[in-house]
Amino acid sequence: LLKVTGLQKSFGENTVLSSIDLSVSPGEVTALIGPSGSGKTTVLRCLNGLERPDAGTVAFEGGPAVTFGPRTSQRERESLRTRSAMVFQSYNLFPHMTVLQNVIEGPVQVQKRPKAEAVAEAEELLARVGLSERRDHYPHQLSGGQQQRVGIVRALALRPSLLLFDEPTSALDPELVGDVLTVIKELAEEGWTMVLVTHELTFAREVADQVVFMDGGVVVEQGPASEVLRAPSQERTRRFVHRLL
Ligand code: ATP
Repeated sequence: LLKVTGLQKSFGENTVLSSIDLSVSPGEVTALIGPSGSGKTTVLRCLNGLERPDAGTVAFEGGPAVTFGPRTSQRERESLRTRSAMVFQSYNLFPHMTVLQNVIEGPVQVQKRPKAEAVAEAEELLARVGLSERRDHYPHQLSGGQQQRVGIVRALALRPSLLLFDEPTSALDPELVGDVLTVIKELAEEGWTMVLVTHELTFAREVADQVVFMDGGVVVEQGPASEVLRAPSQERTRRFVHRLL
């Protein structure tokens, strides 16, 4: 579904991604793990077209490969945005819009889908995550867990081929984490393809097919979750995993 090769990104003097290679098969859940500052969030933002890589190629199945360099156009970069949808660590809902408005904004304004159809689909998705009653509430009237479930519904409403989750539970109070993880697990079981940046290695072990361990802007190790989390081949991965599992 997705193949990334040689992805590089620096912020000024700071090289955040040295050369990232990554591939994701359809229906597969990939957990991206690694120490703070290793570049995980930046990888997701590059995949979603939110960040402009300095070099490298991002190719989604069925679309043109986008090769980054000084001459890559804004339009090429934005073409990536239509393929994936992001669920942010801090929800990033529009505060002045209701739950329903947040969910239909992308489908109606960006994708130009008929409003009635977008509303019907939004209502169905909200019902799935138990938030039908909240459709006319504003984000500040919801708990963090509810806001994040709206964040997930908003991503699903875009009908992306890939879902990107950036530490979706790390801003939540511990008692609210479970509901959000349950929704993510259900999506995985339904066959959604997703890349999940997470510090919850127990959860990664449960849902991920593939685990990618990053450190210092490089992929140190990637492979089946059972291997990378249970019997890592690299010393750096071993130390990280043993500390957290
Ligand atoms: P964490 O687990 O703490 O979220 P991470 O692995 O997701 O970390 P990134 O958020 O990708 O790491 O950040 C990697 C590095 O890039 C950090 O040193 C960060 O300070 C730097 N960085 C990220 N975004 C920017 C930016 N917009 N401008 C400058 N530096 C940035």
